[in-house]
Amino acid sequence: MAAKEVTVRVPAKVNLQLSVGPRREDGFHELATVFHSVALHDDVTAIRQPAGSGISLTCDGEGVAEVPLDSSNLAWKAAQLLADASGVTADVALRIHKQIPVAGGMAGGSADAAGALIACDALWGLHTPKQELHEIAAVLGSDVPFSLHGGTAIGSGRGEQLTPVLAKGSFHWVFALASEGLSTAAVYQECDRLREGKHVPDPYVSDNLMHALRVGDPVLLGKSLDNDLQQAAFSLRPALQRVIEAGEEAGALGGIVSGSGPTCAFIARDADHALDIAVALTSSGLVRSVKRSFGPAHGARVI
Ligand code: ATP
Repeated sequence: MAAKEVTVRVPAKVNLQLSVGPRREDGFHELATVFHSVALHDDVTAIRQPAGSGISLTCDGEGVAEVPLDSSNLAWKAAQLLADASGVTADVALRIHKQIPVAGGMAGGSADAAGALIACDALWGLHTPKQELHEIAAVLGSDVPFSLHGGTAIGSGRGEQLTPVLAKGSFHWVFALASEGLSTAAVYQECDRLREGKHVPDPYVSDNLMHALRVGDPVLLGKSLDNDLQQAAFSLRPALQRVIEAGEEAGALGGIVSGSGPTCAFIARDADHALDIAVALTSSGLVRSVKRSFGPAHGARVI
């Protein structure tokens, strides 16, 4: 008998490198980025509903006051788009349990969209080919294909074209969460403003970073972290600079603003070292909360 509900677990991401090229005619920037999934998850449950019910959505967990519960939620959009592409009616109740900080630069909304795609595909028995799911994901947002994929991968285009990266071992991370989110669009706009009149080179992936991943060395990885949006995030939220300094003073092997921020990500040698950094950041009083995690993690999958 077909399942009455399906739950999918989806990881957050951090960009180990985010190289932002010139703004394209369509308004997006050409990117070269190295996505890395971390075991900080949202769970998306799709629950069967009688025909004609349509889509409904509830959300609990981290920062949910900021999450829309209507058709503007990315998980809702994902369910609708999948139903339209597959010729079924979208009758489903979506339940999201959030651990990924909202508007934190860790692709929380994208994770929920990827989770809804996999959960509804299973609930409705569609067996949509992987490539088609990837195409639907890319329509929903630049980071959604990677949320499906997980692991570590290079993203090109606007981030939606993925090439898997063979990374050895796993890495320990500490995340410093801010009290208030940052809008991704506003951070890109600020990046454009800061670069006005300057030559913007084509985006690239650094050889040092690829080497650090191939050998699984956290020290080399810490030195290779690089984010072109970091200055723009600092410009909009000067206090973030102090957070990065505090993590580095606490002995982190490297620190970076995650994506468009404001979450700051720090790499540690091992689990004990991560705990030391987490304690120092918590007692600094500079951050709302601190989470420890490891990466890479699996992409969206049924649990
Ligand atoms: P990214 O790293 O992909 O740029 P982000 O992690 O910074 O994104 P999100 O958590 O995805 O940011 O949220 C950005 C905005 O998207 C939120 O302020 C919210 O209004 C809206 N949103 C739509 N759907 C969701 C969702 N399922 N979860 C969180 N926010 C959502």
